[in-house]
Amino acid sequence: MGVDTGRDLLYHIPHRYEDATTVDSIASLSPGDDATVIGTVVSKGVLPTRRRLRVFRAVLKDETGLIECAWPGQPWLDRTIARGDRLLVSGPVRFFHGRQIQPREHTVLSRGADEGPEEPPASVEGQVFPVYPATEGLTHRQVRGIIEENLEALVAELEGRDPLPAAWLEELSLLPLAEALRTLHRPDSVAAAEPARRRLAFEELFFLQLLHARARARLRLEVEGISFSGPPDLTERFVDELPFRLTNAQQRVWREIRDDMERSHPMNRLLQGDVGSGKTVVAALAMLRAVESGYQAVLMAPTELLAEQHLRTLTTLLEPIDRVPVLLTGSVTGKARQYALQRIESGEAEIVVGTHALIQESVAFRCLGMAIVDEQHRFGVEQRRRLREMGGRADALVMSATPIPRSLALVLYGDLDLSLIDELPPGRRPVTTGVRGPESREAAFEFLREQLGEGRQAYIVYPIIEESEVLEVRAASSMHEQLVKRFSEFEVGLLHGRLKAAEKDDVMRRFLAGEIHLLVATTVIEVGIDVPNATVMFIEDAERFGLAQLHQLRGRVGRGAAQSYCVAFQSGREPSRRLAAFAATHDGFALAEEDLRIRGQGDLFGKDQSGVATLRFADLERDRDLLEEARRRARAIVDDDPELAHRAHADLARELEERYAGREAMYQVG
Ligand code: ADP
Ligand code: MG
Repeated sequence: MGVDTGRDLLYHIPHRYEDATTVDSIASLSPGDDATVIGTVVSKGVLPTRRRLRVFRAVLKDETGLIECAWPGQPWLDRTIARGDRLLVSGPVRFFHGRQIQPREHTVLSRGADEGPEEPPASVEGQVFPVYPATEGLTHRQVRGIIEENLEALVAELEGRDPLPAAWLEELSLLPLAEALRTLHRPDSVAAAEPARRRLAFEELFFLQLLHARARARLRLEVEGISFSGPPDLTERFVDELPFRLTNAQQRVWREIRDDMERSHPMNRLLQGDVGSGKTVVAALAMLRAVESGYQAVLMAPTELLAEQHLRTLTTLLEPIDRVPVLLTGSVTGKARQYALQRIESGEAEIVVGTHALIQESVAFRCLGMAIVDEQHRFGVEQRRRLREMGGRADALVMSATPIPRSLALVLYGDLDLSLIDELPPGRRPVTTGVRGPESREAAFEFLREQLGEGRQAYIVYPIIEESEVLEVRAASSMHEQLVKRFSEFEVGLLHGRLKAAEKDDVMRRFLAGEIHLLVATTVIEVGIDVPNATVMFIEDAERFGLAQLHQLRGRVGRGAAQSYCVAFQSGREPSRRLAAFAATHDGFALAEEDLRIRGQGDLFGKDQSGVATLRFADLERDRDLLEEARRRARAIVDDDPELAHRAHADLARELEERYAGREAMYQVG
């Protein structure tokens, strides 16, 4: 079970507790009660019912009387529960040929006589029973026995050896380690376990943040960064010439980035902002700050189309200040490529936009100062490594339009600094969003026809079919065929993952140019392309998408002046909580928080391949305050003592080593 040492055993804590502090006497129960009773099994067996459901039943006896317990559909319990066993059960009392409990939970407190000698049937009233994670061949009762035997000895070794400074425990009202562990194994009440869990949660979060802080500090020690200090001519003129005012969030984030750029360490920052929040303008400012300080800047996108789009946007934005960005992608060939490469190498090209073509042939910048990567998670591992190498001393800014809750970002990307644009430019009309069942399809498609008739464009998106890309392509293709017939007066295009990159680009280009009116697509369009004239987004089998993905898809429309619409089709009848949340809010971060609540954090950690960031004790919802504290304190310590070499930090260094030995190298975000 991964328990190799005494320490592992101490940290093998119960996953739940049975509460026997409020045990009811059997005689006192009546239907409608929610009961907790302790009794001995006096008879038991499996009875088939008329509905062919097999029900395991056991009659429990205490000093006051007898009651039947029934577990419908769990006949196997007949093999694990024996006559003479003492059980703790809790659940509702019903009337069914007499009083009957249907246990929600049950715990075998001790084994009956026919099972041989066991722990004596201790007096259990007024106790809380820990229930431990168990495994094949090792029951939770055996685990409990082992821990009970060794708990005091193990805890005694820890007494006075807390890795966290005593002053912190005081400041944060946290229990000392020994006390926390003892309490978790033997709480006086279920409520008493919570402060103990919090203590371990803080410890877990703190050491993870310490690991992140060390990674951040090491980069700073190893690489001498650039302090961008040129006179701010370009950036100031750029802001003056913008046809709009920066939002407060853009201003705040720009200040964060600029301050960081002016310091001498290399910047390593994540810029998060919902689709349309105006990240490109901020990226342009960062690049111009590098240029006005005598350096080159590069913006890298995961696809050619996105790179071209960035080029267009930047060309327009930079025109008033007479700067022309240079494009370098796989499609830039021949003389044009030679010319671009030569200007990049000579330093004449100040602002370069491109794809991984830029890293593949290790283009030599004369003096690269700022490397911006858009949607970095879409680059492969090897590409990311090369990105880092190419960056050299340059400041790095990673942009992402995939909102994740701050708490999760701190855990996963704690070695990066975070900047967040949490405000949309004024005057945006929210996309009208509806969730529709199969009965509304016809009406929806008629509405689509009206929109197309008004000259608008639309997307219909098919979900990824996990089992088979072939099936997925087939679903989208057959829909495409139907729609070609149905909307014969319009041009209907098809986009899916089996197309070659050049074919995909061609379809997207024709959609962008307005030659394709209706685009049937799989999720390959998820991140990226801006088509202001597209006003309708239909999402098929919307239940199969995560909230973040749905939100990304919706972000493809609502980019122009006209009102836009998003329809999520669900195949099931039950209204889904996730789709209801999706229709109710347009705030990507709120949706990300909701996703965290619905799916739980376990699911989200699947993305962290190192597994370092898996949390056992901390809960990203409940322990947000602890997480912020942990981050603040970890950074303060490492800022002061990057290698944890001070005597006063010896305990922290040892504990960090114990927890993450050998895993630091593995651990690299970005
Ligand atoms: P993102 O990259 O975050 O999705 P963009 O930078 O592409 O967003 O901006 C989306 C649109 O909003 C662009 O047309 C841009 O010119 C415009 N925009 C950006 N900032 C502002 C602002 N402060 N006020 C008005 N419009 C803005
Ligand atoms: Mg963008």
